[in-house]
Amino acid sequence: PTSKAAKKKTEDTPLIGIDVAKEDDFSGWYQQVLTKGDMLDYYDVSGCYILKPASYFIWEQVQEWFNIQIKKMGVKNCAFPLFVSEDVLNREKAHIEGFAAEVAWVTHAGKTKLDKKIAIRPTSETVMYPYYAKWIRSHRDLPLKLNQWNSVVRWEFKNPQPFLRTREFLWQEGHTAHLTETEADKEVLGILEHYAAVYEQLLAVPVIRGRKTEKEKFAGGLYTTTVEGYIPSTGRGIQGATSHCLGQNFSKMFGITVEDPSAQPGEKKDPLFVWQNSWGLSTRVIGVMVMIHGDNRGLVLPPRVAELQTIIVPVGITKSTTSDEREGLYKEIEGLVEILRAAGVRAEADFREKPPGWKFNDWEQRGVPLRLEFGTKESRGHFVTASRRDIVGKDGKGKSEMPITELKTGVPALLETMQKELYDRADEKFKSHVKKITSWNDFVPALNDKNVCLIAHCLTEQCEDEIKEMSARTAEEQSGEAQDAKAPSMGAKSLCIPFDQPDGVEEGVTKCTNPNCMNRAEKWCLFGRSY
Ligand code: AMP
Repeated sequence: PTSKAAKKKTEDTPLIGIDVAKEDDFSGWYQQVLTKGDMLDYYDVSGCYILKPASYFIWEQVQEWFNIQIKKMGVKNCAFPLFVSEDVLNREKAHIEGFAAEVAWVTHAGKTKLDKKIAIRPTSETVMYPYYAKWIRSHRDLPLKLNQWNSVVRWEFKNPQPFLRTREFLWQEGHTAHLTETEADKEVLGILEHYAAVYEQLLAVPVIRGRKTEKEKFAGGLYTTTVEGYIPSTGRGIQGATSHCLGQNFSKMFGITVEDPSAQPGEKKDPLFVWQNSWGLSTRVIGVMVMIHGDNRGLVLPPRVAELQTIIVPVGITKSTTSDEREGLYKEIEGLVEILRAAGVRAEADFREKPPGWKFNDWEQRGVPLRLEFGTKESRGHFVTASRRDIVGKDGKGKSEMPITELKTGVPALLETMQKELYDRADEKFKSHVKKITSWNDFVPALNDKNVCLIAHCLTEQCEDEIKEMSARTAEEQSGEAQDAKAPSMGAKSLCIPFDQPDGVEEGVTKCTNPNCMNRAEKWCLFGRSY
């Protein structure tokens, strides 16, 4: 650890704990937070990770919530195979061009070489759509709305990062078919709003909603909408989740048609190609949440997704405490746990034979939102000492006393306050790091200051490529920086065209911000170094 981190350690984390500071070595910190917080373990195939129960619980919370939303929209869950034949995978040209480099292939069964190699799905458009062609016979079969919770494999060569970019990842992929474009458009945005809610409401993570540029849209799709997040420690953007309108591209390639319902009896009309959407949200959400809220003591979990929301720790037990007194205290604590559980709080007591300080650190590292301390002082005074994980500090901030009579309303209310304040703090940080840039000279310095930048842009692919090149750091600028800070040397890319457009871009008048670009600007576009 650097001297700053070491100092931090003695001040803030006296016992076990994270031994690199978030602000000094972000990727080292991230690894430690995940492993010491018991979220994840490393695996011997590079780019693959084990999701331990602590992180899987969060995924289950996301699943439960999202399932309710999509079922209300008429989506049903199902399971398609993991494999896809080469012929079918290659059917939509732009699609396969986008994914070809990352497809993993099965070539052997035991010692026998297969006649035809078989791909492992990188996403399931090509797996599912031959069957959509078979099942959709008439407009009465529409809309068809299926979703699967599964894993996909993308053999990415970019640096793997637990949760954010892994070679196998868990996600949901929704695939729907509609009679009209209007219906498809409406669903794209409906799903995007649910994705935003997963981040904002469950994970307390702010996102910006927008559309991807042509360069960044889903391979083979018509247009892509996205929610974009921001990691303050590195100043990098991160694609949160994407909802694509595929248009009729896939239905044309896979022959998914219905007869025109407007045809009169006996009248011959051309069959209609269906309109399709696909949308996906992965376990990346967990990584984004950890990166944003975690601190130098470890994980900080938003109460709504925390498996354990409140831990009660007995305190003030000394050598002179009699075993009767101790038993009495433990009994009272068990009663408190019952009160909390009856109030819908996920609560437990920690009766392990360890000093309270050790327990405090342990639960802080695991990100448990609220700790209640209970000893003879509290017992006599009929209160508990509450300590908030999100604003824990040696100055006593985040500590309060709560009468036992108020526990059943006070704790749920406090958890909700924490949920809201976690979001508000992250939102403030995000907002203060979105810079509206009108002069190119300010662009790279703003990126270097860990901002993402809104610029007036022509939205052409060529110009995006130029911006990427022009904003890459020079070797000189990078020297002496820690590993993670080096990563964004690749330059800025477009994150999205935010739906919420500030004033100032006059179509056909405003120039594109790239000084080498002769085009007029179309929109404000958000650019950033990104994951
Ligand atoms: P896509 O089908 O490429 O639009 O991916 C859907 C969502 O999955 C993206 O918006 C990302 O949030 C997430 N995702 C994409 N690639 C990965 C990966 N390698 N690891 C984890 N999540 C990913």
